[in-house]
Amino acid sequence: MSHLPAETAGTTPLVEARKLSAGYGGLAVIRDIDLCVMPGEVVALLGPNGAGKTTTLRALMGATRVQSGDVYWQGEPMTLPMDRRAGAGMSYVPEDRAVINSLSASDNLRLGGGDIAESIALFPELEPLLDRRGGLLSGGEMQMVALARALTRKPSFALFADELSFGLAPVIVNRLLDAVRAAADDGRGVLLVEQHAEKALSVADRAYVLVNGRIEIASDANELLRDAARLEQQYLGGLTREDSRARTGSFNSASVRTEPH
Ligand code: ATP
Repeated sequence: MSHLPAETAGTTPLVEARKLSAGYGGLAVIRDIDLCVMPGEVVALLGPNGAGKTTTLRALMGATRVQSGDVYWQGEPMTLPMDRRAGAGMSYVPEDRAVINSLSASDNLRLGGGDIAESIALFPELEPLLDRRGGLLSGGEMQMVALARALTRKPSFALFADELSFGLAPVIVNRLLDAVRAAADDGRGVLLVEQHAEKALSVADRAYVLVNGRIEIASDANELLRDAARLEQQYLGGLTREDSRARTGSFNSASVRTEPH
């Protein structure tokens, strides 16, 4: 079975994982992951705590060692070391936002090659804060700096964003997710790790659900959103795969592909 979304079969994915396994100290945390992100798509990567979402992003970025399988970038095997993947157009917003406390907001933006004027166009609330030290910014402001830097650096073809919403008020989360959606509408591909499944699905085109290091569901975002309560209960509430299988009732496999796609 093709693992490309049917409507885009024939188009080259921006980024693709084929049978990707990665982990730490010789132990695999993610196993045989097949996923792809097409230009123009937001793809949500969901899963309970410890499922391997961050590890997946890090393996795609070259920050965690790939044990087997391959990462493809614009149709070619990606073999560059991590520090050169950003130069190829892979933008990463890690969980900790990577804003340097001692540098001003504007220097933080410049540090990653971000464009200040474009950042302000994206988040006008950053303009009066440009001289403020990174460490004095609120969590939401830091996240805007991190996201603006990732989106305005050149080139920026794909965004890998990890828990943008962590610790932030809903109104800020919505601002960030709107910026993510706009980035995809502008032609980028986005892989979005997010604990708030409903919020992520509301801006996503497709989603993968990772459980115990394996992809359990690959689906259109709308299909999952229709039964978000069940998704939460069956897959995202920290249950093991065995727990979730033991539960009666599951997603309709006609609308939700449960086998490796
Ligand atoms: P969360 O939603 O809690 O952030 P996650 O789905 O992003 O979780 P990962 O952070 O990828 O999951 O972690 C997957 C597993 O790998 C966990 O069991 C975690 O303890 C382990 N792990 C993560 N980083 C390391 C590391 N540097 N060394 C060893 N084990 C690690």
